[in-house]
Amino acid sequence: MKETRKGMLLVISGPSGAGKGTLVERLLNKDPSFCFSVSVTTRGRRKNEIEDVHYHFISEAEYDKLLERDAFLEHASVHGHRYGTLKSEVYERMNRGQNVLLDIDPQGARAVMEKEPQCVSVFILPPSYSELKVRLHTRNTEQPEEIERRLNNARWEIAQMDRYRYLIVNDDLDLAFSQLQAVVRAEKQNSVRFFPQIGE
Ligand code: ADP
Ligand code: 5GP
Repeated sequence: MKETRKGMLLVISGPSGAGKGTLVERLLNKDPSFCFSVSVTTRGRRKNEIEDVHYHFISEAEYDKLLERDAFLEHASVHGHRYGTLKSEVYERMNRGQNVLLDIDPQGARAVMEKEPQCVSVFILPPSYSELKVRLHTRNTEQPEEIERRLNNARWEIAQMDRYRYLIVNDDLDLAFSQLQAVVRAEKQNSVRFFPQIGE
């Protein structure tokens, strides 16, 4: 049996602190068919972040140049900083049959869903707003005012969840991850991207 595959564009979104990064990292470690689309951002690097692995950290001027060159598949201002997905991180890989994973905010996810209707969109929810707050404080990567801003934005972001093909509540991490794997497993067999050629 011969088979060809078109790459899957997996869009993971949800409020800050829901556990997107945690789930994304697990999936990347477990499933070598996925590569991560490294976004550009104008926000400063956190202590645990690696340049060109977590983000391409760039200046406002560099960001403006990318905008002028039409380099973005999508871009958005999120929690006061600018973020964007580069077309160059996505299309060449998908055309080679690789699966590409985006971890982007709901504004960006909406733009990608419109441009690429066959993308697989997954929204990650926390079990409650109070747990979201606990997680953002426990992660301890933002100042209290920044955490407040992210919690306020979470209300609007969660109101958008019905736009997504799949919803996962990340309460128990192992259960949430197995649900994400189930989505991926099913979507790999979707006839929009899987083309088996059976023998005579
Ligand atoms: P996001 O990428 O959505 O902003 P993170 O993956 O950084 O969120 O997770 C936020 C914090 O919550 C991290 O400290 C992470 O370890 C923790 N976390 C993630 N999933 C769970 C879970 N299911 N239960 C408890 N804590 C979690
Ligand atoms: P953080 O600053 O915590 O890394 O990310 C803040 C938010 O920006 C998260 O919701 C994350 O998914 C989103 N984000 C990261 N990269 C991009 C991107 O390229 N485009 C958009 N629209 N959002 C992004």
